[in-house]
Amino acid sequence: MKEVILIKDGELSLKGLNRNIFEDKMISTIKRRLKRYGKFTVSKSQSAVYIEPEDESFDFSAALESVGRIFGIAAFSRAGAFDKDIDVILSQAPEYLKDTLKDVKTFKIEAKRADKSFPLTSPEICRELGGRLLGTFHHLKVDVHNPEIIITVEVREKAAYIRGAQYKGAGGLPTGTSGKSAVLISGGIDSPVAAYLMAKRGVSLFAIHFASPPYTSVRAEEKVKTLLSKVARYSGTIKLAIVPFTEIQEEMGKCCPEDYFTLVMRRMMMRISSIVAAENGCLSLTTGESLGQVASQTMHAIAATDEVSALPVFRPLIGMDKEEIVVISKKIDAFNTSILPYEDCCTVFTPRHPQTRPKKGQCEKAEKNLDIEALIERAIAGIEYTFIE
Ligand code: ATP
Ligand code: MG
Repeated sequence: MKEVILIKDGELSLKGLNRNIFEDKMISTIKRRLKRYGKFTVSKSQSAVYIEPEDESFDFSAALESVGRIFGIAAFSRAGAFDKDIDVILSQAPEYLKDTLKDVKTFKIEAKRADKSFPLTSPEICRELGGRLLGTFHHLKVDVHNPEIIITVEVREKAAYIRGAQYKGAGGLPTGTSGKSAVLISGGIDSPVAAYLMAKRGVSLFAIHFASPPYTSVRAEEKVKTLLSKVARYSGTIKLAIVPFTEIQEEMGKCCPEDYFTLVMRRMMMRISSIVAAENGCLSLTTGESLGQVASQTMHAIAATDEVSALPVFRPLIGMDKEEIVVISKKIDAFNTSILPYEDCCTVFTPRHPQTRPKKGQCEKAEKNLDIEALIERAIAGIEYTFIE
């Protein structure tokens, strides 16, 4: 018996006429992500999508794991593909469903007959298979109203598919259905989580990292790339812009008041990011800020940095505590990389007493000796791009 992967989409069912567009995006993501595991076909059937391996060489378990990271999928399961012969189904299905039914007490069978030439009607299939399962597993009872598990049988063109073990999907919306955002990525815990959360809502990602060599090391850059590769397992390929930031930080060190270093630095990041993001087709910026977490993340400081961004800035972590952020960081396997101790440019020029409540006009005053336009132009001219898979 062959196995297939059966997918239930999630919020997609809410999208009315857009449903097809969402579903097609999800299917094209599936095709792209699973290509590396071998040959397979994808087909739609009412509320489910089937992934069917074409031959033995398909790496089924790797594909199953990968499906668990595709947004827009609410639940997925393995399904056995049986010969379209009721005797074969009745003799083989109990063995196939043994593990799935081990820990449940009540079940119900739902049958669909896409192939109308199959000799049994749907109610007859339910009755026959239900009877066989009750006869085989004595701990089971049928509950048609509130079953712990629904076993589906779908008789289609090539085979009769019976659903086995079920898993929770990644949820969210299919990648590419919500526009593109530029995530400002540091090497910390927060920004990769922010990137993941945006991707979960269907956003395609572009990433911007500010590097200040020799104050920051090559290893710090490698760390950022590793973090993005963790996010890319969910979001798909991410284009990364590495912006040289050394000159800006040194200039700031020379001609800005120390208590404004962080604010000026963040405003420069926002100015540059909104230009680079727009050039790369993004409609917004995303940061990993959480209200009050550090001096630069007070409402006053955030307002002072938003002022200079030409694009809306999304901060998906704004209301989250560190522990809540860490849970997600661990879930996406980023945490152990995030805590590696390589210097970020933010930690290089840290003021002893950062300004946390900048007043209107004070940031402009602190920046008045910087040649902002020329600095931005040179930083952008020095950008290096790479693609993170
Ligand atoms: P993170 O854990 O993401 O580093 P953080 O709590 O350390 O965040 P900050 O260092 O104040 O906070 O940075 C706030 C946000 O600014 C980050 O989440 C990130 O989006 C952005 N950011 C900080 N440093 C950089 C950098 N070197 N390059 C790009 N973006 C950065
Ligand atoms: Mg940081």
